[in-house]
Amino acid sequence: MVQYLKEEAKRLRVHVKVAKLAISLRGFYSPAKNTIYVNRSLTQDQRREALAHELAHCFYGHDCTSEFNERQADHRAALLLIDPDLYRQAALLNPHPNFVAIELGVTSHIVQVWQEHWLPQLAAKRREFEDVA
Ligand SMILES: [Zn+2]
Repeated sequence: MVQYLKEEAKRLRVHVKVAKLAISLRGFYSPAKNTIYVNRSLTQDQRREALAHELAHCFYGHDCTSEFNERQADHRAALLLIDPDLYRQAALLNPHPNFVAIELGVTSHIVQVWQEHWLPQLAAKRREFEDVA
């Protein structure tokens, strides 16, 4: 497990278990057991993403699956997994989500979430700063 995800789990006081789960299930958060389960059949990158996603469910106190909750969890997972500086370095070479994903060791799904959700906000912040400077 990556150090910063370990720290996030510690902050949230939630247990993490890599377990044998149904193939269709990447992971899940059980509020009742205060435990996040990650499917052991996933690759390391997929495990990291599943863990970040489930940590986000835990962070927001989600106790059910809804479209809104899933989107919110993906947004926070992207924030946990993608360093803006490393993103920028990779995207300058090639902004395609598949390329950036390989460079950063994440899935292209999480790069797309980052590009759709966080990138416009970063760009707006930068413009705000430039207006002041
Ligand atoms: Zn979810």
